[in-house]
Amino acid sequence: MNLKNYIEWINNKTINQETIFSKYLEKATNSIANKENIYLRINNSGWRIDNDGVLKWAPIAIKDNIMQKWEISTCWSKILSDYIAPYSATCIENLEKNWWVVIWKTNMDEFAMGSSNETSYYWPCLNPYWTNRIPWGSSGWSAVAVAKDLCIAALGTDTGWSVRQPAAMCGIVWLKPTYGRISRYGVQSMASSLDQVWTMTKTVEDAEILLKAIMWFDENDSQSNKKADILEKSNKDAKNYKIALPKQCFWEWLDPKIKERVFSVVEKLKNLWIQIDEIDLPILDVWIAVYYTLMPAEVSTNLSRFDGIRFGLQGNAMEAKDIYEYFTKIRYEWFWEEAKRRILLWSFVLSSANYEWYYLKALKVREKMIQDLDNIFQKYDLILTPTTPEVARKIWEKVDDPLKMYLADMYTVPANLAWLPAISIPVWTIEDKWENMPVWLHLMANRWKEDDLFVIWKEVEKMVNN
Ligand code: GLN
Repeated sequence: MNLKNYIEWINNKTINQETIFSKYLEKATNSIANKENIYLRINNSGWRIDNDGVLKWAPIAIKDNIMQKWEISTCWSKILSDYIAPYSATCIENLEKNWWVVIWKTNMDEFAMGSSNETSYYWPCLNPYWTNRIPWGSSGWSAVAVAKDLCIAALGTDTGWSVRQPAAMCGIVWLKPTYGRISRYGVQSMASSLDQVWTMTKTVEDAEILLKAIMWFDENDSQSNKKADILEKSNKDAKNYKIALPKQCFWEWLDPKIKERVFSVVEKLKNLWIQIDEIDLPILDVWIAVYYTLMPAEVSTNLSRFDGIRFGLQGNAMEAKDIYEYFTKIRYEWFWEEAKRRILLWSFVLSSANYEWYYLKALKVREKMIQDLDNIFQKYDLILTPTTPEVARKIWEKVDDPLKMYLADMYTVPANLAWLPAISIPVWTIEDKWENMPVWLHLMANRWKEDDLFVIWKEVEKMVNN
């Protein structure tokens, strides 16, 4: 069931909320009993189920790094395993204002770090289409929940790709709005200048509905923007759009299946008279290096609050002989490999010997990248790329090879580094479905132009469904 139908059917009294609620509750309970690792808890606050035909809740899942008052919020890390949120994130309050009470929290890679859905303290879940493969991360569990219809839609966060990749691998629609559009207040920060709350839905229309319900200018978030509440309406017809296709995306290690599918969709869009031009974007290959230099620096700053004093479990760290041993014990005992790896990277890039060589240089390249992208948006409405260079990996296939893992983020990090809205949508053909092979595209628009993404994606959706 999708969100649009759900709202319409409740408002027309075609369906009964209690029946739907019991159905989803049963599915969630079965999923927990079957140890699918998608939900570990079913939140029990705020359920209001009346049969007066007024929409009061919707089975929407949220990633466990978004706080909901009085509910456990762990970021799926051991260190926060008993942390109870003292307040709700602004996006949750906005859902509640729309009477969409959130009832389920989903598993995630620890503190949203990781690409593969394999770094949660509470175990991975598998891709619903390829059961020996990962759905990717860090929001893989939420993507699987939407794909398996264990919820109507989901909310989470995206710092580098966390939603676009798993959404793509699970054949659902993902939207990353402009940075500053949705408040990050009450959301556990991973890398503050890159994080953004996102939506995962079954259709593009649902993404639009959910975005409108949660976008908000919020004084509690220093990066929230006054434009946040206004969704500029595009007055253009799809065929008047100009799309840029950077040539540098199609290098030799892009999976040929993905390359072929991107070009076949491009041809179909051109047949609809949409202008698509191949362009040069020379520094595309360094985006990933910039991300993996700046991101760990911000991550470690944010992780420093988990010291067993302000936040997090203390365990036996009080037996330490001095403060250094105390911190070592806390971090050694409670963080998993990926968090530790990023703290090490941070110590390197921000150390006095390397700061200028790495951190400052990466900041400068980020500026240059933003200028390059802004220049493209002077001439084009959208930039089209693949979402990932490879198809879903087998479980545990590359978990010990972080560099290969990091490379897979290369098409998606620019939207975070340049604060752009972006969307990833499945473009499966019948043959792909037979092979259970999800294939997808990635589109970026200029800041505050989410509506441009909706216009084109509705065309793509029609085209793929026909
Ligand atoms: N692969 C990215 C990383 O590990 C994804 C992070 C994210 O979007 N939360 O940094």
